Amino acid sequence: MTLPPHLARALAARDAPGPPVHAVEVGGSSVQSSVFAGGTVEFAEGPRPAADTGPFGLAAPGLVIDGRVQGATQLGWDDVEAWRELGYPHRPDVSMNDADAAALGEWLLRAERPGSLLYAGIGTGLGGSLITGGEVVDVRLSHQTGFGEAVCDGCRAPGCLNARIGGQYLPRRLDAADKRRVVDLLATAIGRAGLPGGTVVVLAGGLVRRTHPDLVAALRSRLGGAYPVEGSAAPAAAKSAAYVGLLDRLVGEGRTG
Ligand SMILES: [Zn+2]
Repeated sequence: MTLPPHLARALAARDAPGPPVHAVEVGGSSVQSSVFAGGTVEFAEGPRPAADTGPFGLAAPGLVIDGRVQGATQLGWDDVEAWRELGYPHRPDVSMNDADAAALGEWLLRAERPGSLLYAGIGTGLGGSLITGGEVVDVRLSHQTGFGEAVCDGCRAPGCLNARIGGQYLPRRLDAADKRRVVDLLATAIGRAGLPGGTVVVLAGGLVRRTHPDLVAALRSRLGGAYPVEGSAAPAAAKSAAYVGLLDRLVGEGRTG
């Protein structure tokens, strides 16, 4: 499934002349646009600004409000009007943190939507977000502290989990010892996160999906049944499930199917 049925229907219903709805996801290593037309989605490299840009959504690391991004140190964006930086003529209609958008997307892409879903995405950084009852809920995962002395460039706290297992702090390819360390630290943080019972954990992000998909089974085994662990439900061509979360905020209403 590349689009949940309610979003495919909403897109088909609004098909009209004019620029299509699109979503743009900014990550540490690449930018991807998802262009929605005819009830389907096409993925393209880079942002898609145009003089007549239609409704669009923006996802990026850090604090993302009304097209402004703060604290996305892995992008070199301390405080940037990201829409302008990407060449857009106006602010996005929807702005979301990339982990929040991906978590919402992972939840919406599942035929059986769990009551609660924790998203952990290892890319350039470590993203974490919790969806409960279909809404983004605060959770302390990616910048949870208590993991040694390493200092995170984002929150600047010593002992931050991101400073241990965020992709920019890891070797390009993980050996068996690296993988054990990543899984151990992540499992400890998940145990301390105070998750609702029955939460489904989704382990995703570029490093997991493209390079080390075996981390999903390793985390499942390490958590020993405390929480079910699944891989990403996003199609392989998508950078993450964030396009679905953004599209839901752009056109979604009524998630009955
Ligand atoms: Zn941090």
